[in-house]
Amino acid sequence: MSIPDENRAVVRSLTWHTPDIFELGVEHPGCAFVPGDCVALYQRQGTASRPYSIASGIHDETWRFLIRRLPGGEVSADLAQCAPGDSVRITPPFGWFRPGQDASGSSAVFVATGTGIAPFWSYLRSYPDRPPVRCLYGVRQRADAVAVEWLRERCCLDLAVSRETAPDARHGRVTDLLPSLPLDGATHYYLCGLDTMLDDVSRWLEVRGVGLARIHRECFFNAQ
Ligand SMILES: Cc1cc2nc3c(=O)[nH]c(=O)nc-3n(C[C@H](O)[C@H](O)[C@H](O)COP(=O)(O)OP(=O)(O)OC[C@H]3O[C@@H](n4cnc5c(N)ncnc54)[C@H](O)[C@@H]3O)c2cc1C
Repeated sequence: MSIPDENRAVVRSLTWHTPDIFELGVEHPGCAFVPGDCVALYQRQGTASRPYSIASGIHDETWRFLIRRLPGGEVSADLAQCAPGDSVRITPPFGWFRPGQDASGSSAVFVATGTGIAPFWSYLRSYPDRPPVRCLYGVRQRADAVAVEWLRERCCLDLAVSRETAPDARHGRVTDLLPSLPLDGATHYYLCGLDTMLDDVSRWLEVRGVGLARIHRECFFNAQ
């Protein structure tokens, strides 16, 4: 079933994972999506929108979004003030980023920074029996890494924390984890998050012979 271009969805929940990262749950708008799809969510005034990746599994009853509140952000800071019962404008799902689609789970690698983990949540919730061979997750502070234990139960996760040390993470950028990745000529690499990470990881893979057809990118944020 398709939904009209400017449907509204009722907010069911808003949960803070950190002082800046929250999870917004809205009622299922009644249409299908593929892990990696985004929707445009509008602020409550309904005049400005931004794309957000669906973090739910394809069979979940609620659509969840993992959102970083940017100071002064026109949309993210407004959505952060939603309460259950509010309604927000939402477009039908769209996108081209398809984690795991080009490879069986055993030959997919996921690399995320920050809320760029959202499409991988969707994949892991949708296809728990086909985990990626590795999932690299980079954050600035350990507290910014959301649902780490849940991820560890579902896939082979490596966490990198760049601005502090943490007992269960490598101190550094997610790119420091790259030497441990499989480079076998069949693996597909799915990168999501900050543009500089996407560029650095792509370059690292290309230098080692990975063709662009096996590097899939979704940019959420541009480095300031
Ligand atoms: C395909 C796609 C999917 C996306 N999915 C998600 C998602 O699932 N979760 C999510 O959190 N975001 C996601 N984003 C980013 C999101 O669309 C918005 O860009 C983000 O929420 C900021 O919008 P805003 O209206 O709040 O801020 P804006 O009003 O656009 O900007 C507010 C201020 O923040 C500054 N700013 C911009 N980038 C940064 C930065 N990296 N760090 C600090 N300040 C910055 C701007 O300069 C500006 O001053 C996605 C983006 C794309 C393109």
